[in-house]
Amino acid sequence: MTIPLVDLGAQYRDLRVEIDAAIAAVLGRGDFILGREVGAFEAAFAAFVGTRHCVGVASGTDALRLAMVGLGVGPGDEVLVPANSFIATALAVSEAGATPVFVDVDPKTYTIDADCARRAVTPRSRAVVPVHLYGQPADMEEILALSGKHNLIIIEDAAQAHGAVHHLGRVGTLGAASGFSFYPGKNLGAYGDAGAVATDDEALADHLRKLRNWGSTVKYEHPERGCNSRLDTIQAAVLLVKLRHLEDANARRRTVAGWYDDMLESLADRVQRPIVADWTREHVYHLYVVRLRDGVRDMVLHRLHAAGIGAGVHYPTPIHLQGAYAAMGHRPGDYPEAEAAAREVLSLPMYPELTRDQVAQVVRALEAALG
Ligand SMILES: *Cc1c(COP(=O)(O)O)cnc(C)c1O
Repeated sequence: MTIPLVDLGAQYRDLRVEIDAAIAAVLGRGDFILGREVGAFEAAFAAFVGTRHCVGVASGTDALRLAMVGLGVGPGDEVLVPANSFIATALAVSEAGATPVFVDVDPKTYTIDADCARRAVTPRSRAVVPVHLYGQPADMEEILALSGKHNLIIIEDAAQAHGAVHHLGRVGTLGAASGFSFYPGKNLGAYGDAGAVATDDEALADHLRKLRNWGSTVKYEHPERGCNSRLDTIQAAVLLVKLRHLEDANARRRTVAGWYDDMLESLADRVQRPIVADWTREHVYHLYVVRLRDGVRDMVLHRLHAAGIGAGVHYPTPIHLQGAYAAMGHRPGDYPEAEAAAREVLSLPMYPELTRDQVAQVVRALEAALG
């Protein structure tokens, strides 16, 4: 691809000296598991998010799953999740032993639709997982109202929204706990799998430190069953370096999004640009997602690839129609907005190092692809 969807090499070239030194320090000490940088990163990330605690784990999926386990969400419980998200949002619920109940999304922001969530509440509803999708906060005012009314635990899926701000506060501080992913392509990405739970709840944080380490805080003492899901020291060292540059990188993403917004103005009748909700104070553009009507998306995607533009689709199949959830018996039409989004959305290249000229090149290729 001439212009890829994401270019992780560009960021490494900028931060190489700092990152190489950080990794070398861990290699020199050899404290690969729960070493020095793990605690340092947890403290720094908690300060960044604005929570009292952060517990590093092996992935974003585990962050969500362990947050649920730690909060006592499990077998017999229903958990509301948006039908349009990466499947990990639902799998985390299933792995915790609870049942995901899908909810349609708002057609403008693609985040969980609070009215649909309200209609999906049953006496078994225990929790809700708003996903701050593509870098934009979900409608948390409505979700908080719903949670208050039905006593639902809020676990934020903040895997795509490190640093995003809702007018009520920063993403990750708005529920009982939040799950972050540091998968390499995320706004804050490690060089392997990594994740974290952020929370103000000290008892939960202590519990999670046990759960991630086979249910143990004292070697060979296991008062409960946990698992092996630790953030490893090398990843924490990389994340500590990258965290220092995150605000800057997010600001550059917003600049790139602004260029796209301006340059796509002339195609506005055919290309719907991302809509920033009135509840959003700071969008962090994990992805720049446009919408194409009239059934042209797949053709445009194909033509962009042929032109060397790494466009993508997030996500081509809504979760309720995935084979993984076939046993729930959902049919096409059950969640029409999520299904329409799956047919019509298109992610254009988005990363902090993109230049104005590259954005112009993408827009020209998009115009040509539209015919
Ligand atoms: C990436 C992602 C996850 C899962 O994170 P991993 O670190 O890959 O396990 C969960 N939810 C959403 C919305 C994501 O984008």
